[in-house]
Amino acid sequence: MKSTQATASTSPKIQRVGVVGGGQLAAMMGDAAKALGIELLVQTPDAADPAVSVADGAVLAAVDDVLATAELADRCDVITFENEFVDLDGLRSLAEQGVLFQPSLSSLSPLLDKYVQRCYLQDLGLPTPRFWAWDCSQDLHLDFPFAVKVRRHGYDGQGTFIVKDRESLESICDRVKGQSLLVEEFVPFDRELAAIAARSATGEIAIYPIVETQQKNQVCRLAIAPADISLEVKSEAEAIVRTLLNSLQAVGIFGIELFLTADNQLLVNEIAPRTHNSGHFTIDACETSQFEQHLRAVCQLPLGNCDLHSAGAVMVNLLGYESAESDYLEKRQQLAQIDGAFVHWYGKKVSRPGRKLGHVTVLLSEEAVDRGGVQARAIAQTVESIWNPN
Ligand code: ADP
Repeated sequence: MKSTQATASTSPKIQRVGVVGGGQLAAMMGDAAKALGIELLVQTPDAADPAVSVADGAVLAAVDDVLATAELADRCDVITFENEFVDLDGLRSLAEQGVLFQPSLSSLSPLLDKYVQRCYLQDLGLPTPRFWAWDCSQDLHLDFPFAVKVRRHGYDGQGTFIVKDRESLESICDRVKGQSLLVEEFVPFDRELAAIAARSATGEIAIYPIVETQQKNQVCRLAIAPADISLEVKSEAEAIVRTLLNSLQAVGIFGIELFLTADNQLLVNEIAPRTHNSGHFTIDACETSQFEQHLRAVCQLPLGNCDLHSAGAVMVNLLGYESAESDYLEKRQQLAQIDGAFVHWYGKKVSRPGRKLGHVTVLLSEEAVDRGGVQARAIAQTVESIWNPN
């Protein structure tokens, strides 16, 4: 981490941050915490989880274990979150006893259930795909294709299905039987965008350059910064971000996923109340990483500068393509040879198909930032052909 504006002159009032979750997002926050002189403790089930080795302490327990969060809170000045799989009702009793949660539990509460989140967006007058609550038991009068999503605990496309015909609908219903679902219209988007933004406790908002993302099988494959979008689309995306973060009274980093249609309409797909995969480029390409920014917001430090310090960047996820125990050292060394590449490895012991094992960010020169991100996509292709030649 390069950006250490706070360490020299100001020492933060909040010195110990507890993170509910201990995967790669918490681990990358751990690196940022060290640079800021902040202690970071995590709550995560397994001592082998990525953040445990970088954290200053760990409570080994499931993320929805409220007693474990109480123990974490005893050792920390503020509690923040790495993921959404928390027991919000259970945590409310801790908030009543004075535990400081950032973002607050009331900021989280409209976001954890995808249907409730859609209703919240609709109430704010923000554009979303048309949606309905559903549970497989009622008749659906919708033309194929459409999207079916589990309302809670979905991630990385687990629990999100694009349904093309009746046969696949039946097999999906077999898989998600008994769960509350959200059905929504299929959006034939031209591109997907994401806005990573922070809001401080004083209401300051800092927005990173909007990125274009691409998913494969509903999992993020790459992010290109900055997205090749018109000024109007950029301003509209930023206006959506401001409306949302202010309305939520958000504190910390939030990731907002957007669909951009062929006629330049934006629809909000999803809000994540935490650091986000499509913001990983900020570690190597921006003045302040999203992880440092999140800590700055939750520790009541001034927000950092979101500007890119290169003309652009492309981030490619290293997704598991086999079930294996390997550290893929040779491949990582090969990836590091790419001009402008930064290789991040999460230290997971086991690879499984689709599992996020690391990512590579390649900085782009002025010449490599072109219309439509053609060169960025070619670089992503190079990364992927080294990572998984099959
Ligand atoms: P998750 O929470 O698992 O990330 P999302 O709801 O963000 O799931 O969906 C993952 C991906 O699935 C999206 O990035 C998009 O590519 C695709 N997708 C989701 N909803 C729709 C939709 N209504 N229309 C078209 N594609 C969709």
